[in-house]
Amino acid sequence: MTTLTLPSVRGKLTPNAPLAPLVWFKSGGTADWLFEPRDVADLQDFLAGLAPAVPVMALGLGSNLIVRDGGVPGVVIRLGKAFAKVEKIDEVTLNCGGGASGILVSSTARDNGIAGLEFLRSIPGTVGGFVRMNGGAYGREVKDVLIDCDVVIRSGEIATLPLSELGYTYRHSDLTDGSIVVAARFRGHPGEPDAIQAEMDRISAAREASQPLRSKTGGSTFKNPESGKAWELVDKAGCRGLSLGGAQVSEKHTNFLINTGEATSAEIEALGEEVRKRVKDMSGVELEWEIKRIGRP
Ligand SMILES: Cc1cc2nc3c(=O)[nH]c(=O)nc-3n(C[C@H](O)[C@H](O)[C@H](O)COP(=O)(O)OP(=O)(O)OC[C@H]3O[C@@H](n4cnc5c(N)ncnc54)[C@H](O)[C@@H]3O)c2cc1C
Repeated sequence: MTTLTLPSVRGKLTPNAPLAPLVWFKSGGTADWLFEPRDVADLQDFLAGLAPAVPVMALGLGSNLIVRDGGVPGVVIRLGKAFAKVEKIDEVTLNCGGGASGILVSSTARDNGIAGLEFLRSIPGTVGGFVRMNGGAYGREVKDVLIDCDVVIRSGEIATLPLSELGYTYRHSDLTDGSIVVAARFRGHPGEPDAIQAEMDRISAAREASQPLRSKTGGSTFKNPESGKAWELVDKAGCRGLSLGGAQVSEKHTNFLINTGEATSAEIEALGEEVRKRVKDMSGVELEWEIKRIGRP
């Protein structure tokens, strides 16, 4: 795939780019190509000129991803600084670049007296990842705050999709892999910056107490099933601390998998499958992966 002729770009295009340093698990193979567009037009021109058969996917902070050890075919697109701006549009609305972090969105909201976006403080991803995953925490999720988003589709065309077209359910949107979210509008409600900061602090402290934030991890591994909490089922199945090679089920939060050192992605994924099997045997519940697993085994 690296012998492909690709359209010329103004941003940065890297062949055989290691993805492990770019994802939270710090494991996995290379992207055939990694493209960091200079701006939206650069991204559009690139996609318009790229052979339609070449697969394309976006990478945010890699906080919900297992990149398999055989690497990712085609082009992985990472939105850099040009996509990381957050600006106030009106008293309660922010325009957020697809590459902006949850910390930047929530602190810009605070500075502008916009409440209701505090939960994004605690999700370690980008706006593009939040919109794609319907990211949520502490009783709120993206579908509660999104007005619309700008998406560059595989053909290179750009479209503005309103909330109603995203097909949101729990940790799911109908966005496809080749669609790149380059901006989104989030709406909150008027609030006092001090009170907003206090809520952000409360959320951060709760996080710190319950999750292995300083580990190589991928966030919640499985979606909560209708019948209860994934972490409880994993715990009851006796998987707390279970390990396979360098991969381990977190002792602190049983719905988190951890790379304890030099785990391969194959070990992390196989441990997840072992947990699913044990939970199924114990309770009959089939846990569904929340973490996206991408690339060649
Ligand atoms: C310690 C920790 C705690 C976490 N807590 C939470 C939590 O409370 N709630 C929660 O919902 N999640 C949580 N997560 C998971 C993760 O942070 C979210 O899923 C987040 O939305 C992923 O964002 P990202 O930008 O890192 O996306 P990535 O992990 O890079 O990618 C995830 C998916 O989004 C797609 N994507 C990324 N950027 C774009 C884009 N610009 N356009 C289109 N698609 C894109 C990718 O292709 C992939 O399919 C946690 C993760 C960690 C490590």
